[in-house]
Amino acid sequence: MNSKNALPKLEVHMIPCLEDNYGYLVHDSDSGFTASVDTPEVEPILRALDEKGWALSHILNTHHHFDHAGGNLELKEKTDCIIIGARKDADRIPGIDIQMGDGDIYLFGKHEMTILETPGHTRGHLSYYFADSDIAFVGDTLFALGCGRLFEGTPEMMWESLQKLLQLPDKTLIYCAHEYTASNAAFALTVEPDNGDLRTRNAEIAKLRARNKPTIPTTIGLERRTNPFLRPDSANIRATVGLRSATDTEVFAEVRTRKDRF
Ligand code: ZN
Ligand code: FE
Repeated sequence: MNSKNALPKLEVHMIPCLEDNYGYLVHDSDSGFTASVDTPEVEPILRALDEKGWALSHILNTHHHFDHAGGNLELKEKTDCIIIGARKDADRIPGIDIQMGDGDIYLFGKHEMTILETPGHTRGHLSYYFADSDIAFVGDTLFALGCGRLFEGTPEMMWESLQKLLQLPDKTLIYCAHEYTASNAAFALTVEPDNGDLRTRNAEIAKLRARNKPTIPTTIGLERRTNPFLRPDSANIRATVGLRSATDTEVFAEVRTRKDRF
C-alpha cells in the first residue's frame, strides 16, 4: 500500500502566447487529465499538447477577456474538453459547461482543485488552487510584483481578493497570466525604494529578461515580501505615497492609481 504522499504532483507546462500572455497546461499523470488554464491562443496550445502527448480534458477559465477565453470554442470543438468558469460570468465565458463559485472544490483526477473568487480585474474572476501540488493559477488578479487593473471592480474588492491569495502558504507557486514583471519592478521601486528584497529581486528579473527567460512562476512568500500591492502596511510605501495613517485599503487604492499613471 502506498503512503498518502503517493499521488504524484501535477505537472505544469508554460505556453507563451500573443504579446505577453502565458497559457498553461496542467497535467495529472495519474488520471491522464490535462487542463488548459485559459485559452489565449489556439495554435500554441495545440502544438504543446501534441509535443507532450497529452489530450485536453478541461479548460479552466480565470476570466472572460479575449486573451483568456478567446480560444475556448475552437479548442472545445477540436478536443471535446469540458470548460470550467465562473458562475457569475457564465454569460461571458464561451462554451462554459461547469459553473464555479468561491470555495467550490472540483476533483481533477484525485487532485482537489479549490476555486477562489478573486474579483476586481473583472467581476467574476476566478483563481484555481491545487493544494497538494502547491500551485495556484491567478489569471490577471495577482502578477509578479503587480496586480490586475480594476476594469470592473473597486479597490476594496481587489484588496479583498489579494488578501485571499495571501492566505495561501508561502511556498505556493503562483502562475499568473502575463509577463509584466520588469515594468512592475520599475514601478515597485518608485513606491518602496528602501525594500532590500525588492532591489535584489529587481536585479534578478533584469538578468532573466535580458536572456528572454520567464519570471514566472513566483511564490506567495516572495510576493508577500516584495509586491507593493500586497504591502499597504509598509511604512516605506505609506511614507512614499503620503498616507501614513490611512487604512490598508486606502493605501492599496493609492498605489493602484499611481500604477495606472506610471
Ligand atoms: Zn484580463
Ligand atoms: Fe489578460
